[in-house]
Amino acid sequence: MFTGFLIRLDDIAENMDWDMMEKATDLFDKFNIKPILGIIPNNKDPELLNYPKKNIEFWDQVRAWKQKGWEIAMHGNNHVYDKICSKTDYLGLGGSSEFCDHTYEEQYKKLKEGLEKFNSENIKIKIFFAPNHTFDKNTILALKKCGINQILDGYGLMPYEENGMQFVPQLFYKLYTVPFGVQTFQIHLNYFKQKDFEEFEKFIKSNSKKIITYEQAISKLTNNLQHKIIRMVSKKALQLKRSIW
Ligand SMILES: [Zn+2]
Repeated sequence: MFTGFLIRLDDIAENMDWDMMEKATDLFDKFNIKPILGIIPNNKDPELLNYPKKNIEFWDQVRAWKQKGWEIAMHGNNHVYDKICSKTDYLGLGGSSEFCDHTYEEQYKKLKEGLEKFNSENIKIKIFFAPNHTFDKNTILALKKCGINQILDGYGLMPYEENGMQFVPQLFYKLYTVPFGVQTFQIHLNYFKQKDFEEFEKFIKSNSKKIITYEQAISKLTNNLQHKIIRMVSKKALQLKRSIW
């Protein structure tokens, strides 16, 4: 059975831990790994704004990453949590949200603003993932209206289609691996200490042959019953885990 790992980097913005990003870049280049970058187009998150800026134009850097074949995804618009949803979100996780529980019109406005930033920088966006994994049915409608029909989030072990949206699952916060399926690892370089980086380096070294590109992942899209069942089971297990935290 197919096994492939994706590396998803969250919270890529003008303000971030650029030293850690440089170390990660060297590692990716060494093993020819092409991660998916979750770019915040109009970052106003007060916590993230505490990180330093780099001495180059951010959007030139984004274009340079894209040039290397890294995948550029939209990670919210401003990353500001202005709602707390109680499991009314699509994945049933609950928690702080930039999108969930806002009206369709408000969500469309947020997404449009983010997309306009990407468009003005000549970067085409087809993939979205929400800050804190929280989005709802209106987010999906608004995304489709904006021409985005792929979300890098959700349950299961294979990309699937639901409500006219293609999902590439993202199950793990930690570097656990299961022996089959497409697994996305969510990485927050901003929270990395030296020890976390060393662990990540070890993971990349021993799994580099299994790490795939986003295009390779989405090409595995399937809606067969076996994978629907795996999705339902993983949903229950992960919701339970999150409620225990
Ligand atoms: Zn985030």
